Amino acid sequence: MSPGEEKDRLQELTRDLLVPCVQLINAYSNGEEKGGSMDWSDVDQAHESALHAVEDNFDLQKCGVCEQYFVPSLTKCGCR
Ligand SMILES: [Zn+2]
Repeated sequence: MSPGEEKDRLQELTRDLLVPCVQLINAYSNGEEKGGSMDWSDVDQAHESALHAVEDNFDLQKCGVCEQYFVPSLTKCGCR
């Protein structure tokens, strides 16, 4: 991969991971404006983007003990 391609790939990965973060920030912001009631469709959208972004780029696994998702070597589940 050329340095140019690598930079493009990194930018694409950053954007894919950033989209659900911004959607979640907006879901909370919209919820605060409505007096603390979150709109589940906003949260669903953020969850779907997050799941796709992580599954497409990382080895997402589910812990057999606490049943939480994690990415080995990068994140931890609830019981480790
Ligand atoms: Zn666990």
